[in-house]
Amino acid sequence: MLNFWRRVSTECWVDTNVHLERLTPSPDTVVSQARQANIVLIATGTQPGQWRWLQSIRGVGKAYGLHPEAIPAADDWLTELRACLVHDVDAAVGEVGLDWRPAFADHDLQERCLRAQLALAIELDRAVILHVVKAHQAMLTILRDFPGLRFTVHAFTGSADIADQYLALGGYLSAGGLITRKPAPRVLSVFATMPEDRILLESDAPDLPMAGQAVSDPCHLPEIGRVLAALRGVSTASLAIQTQQNARVLFGGGCVQSG
Ligand SMILES: [Zn+2]
Repeated sequence: MLNFWRRVSTECWVDTNVHLERLTPSPDTVVSQARQANIVLIATGTQPGQWRWLQSIRGVGKAYGLHPEAIPAADDWLTELRACLVHDVDAAVGEVGLDWRPAFADHDLQERCLRAQLALAIELDRAVILHVVKAHQAMLTILRDFPGLRFTVHAFTGSADIADQYLALGGYLSAGGLITRKPAPRVLSVFATMPEDRILLESDAPDLPMAGQAVSDPCHLPEIGRVLAALRGVSTASLAIQTQQNARVLFGGGCVQSG
């Protein structure tokens, strides 16, 4: 994502997961409102139809991936995903993952789709945004087969033990609106104490709104950041800078300079 990050001011907040296609205002409006609020967006496309749509959107970082809720019957999606990623050398892979809730596809199929996408991420040297629900042990087992993979677990709500295992694999954990809504104490404790160089922020807009909001919006990110900064006992400004640097290292492959 080097080209994208070169144009981003080091002062900005970075929202590492936005579902632009499900927000009510036009993408141009969302992007320009965020820019005015000093927020840069990474928009995730979660199925083939959204990948095609996302390719036309300007001014955002992008991630393309097949979400476990969107696994199609035909399996030609991997060819299309590869084409999207090759076409957009700045793009990450995501959201992809495992979701063991009953309404989702069977576990073997989800794991096959995930492994194919992690292999693609390694091959093309891209970061991965992971969606993990009720499936952390299975995810950790799979991740151990992909050493060197750059990844973040979005909207992390697991225990300290699970967090430690992702961190030991080099992973990042992303905090969103949930931390403003009195989550389980274990979640607050993970984000209060985890290493500062592995934290990311996300709105997950329009999902997972912060306290007092019915719908999440990228413009809520500074408030989520303010709550996280207070939790960690650091200034909001330093948290903004740290989390942007983290996003640059993860998604930009280590580039921390603007210019
Ligand atoms: Zn998700």
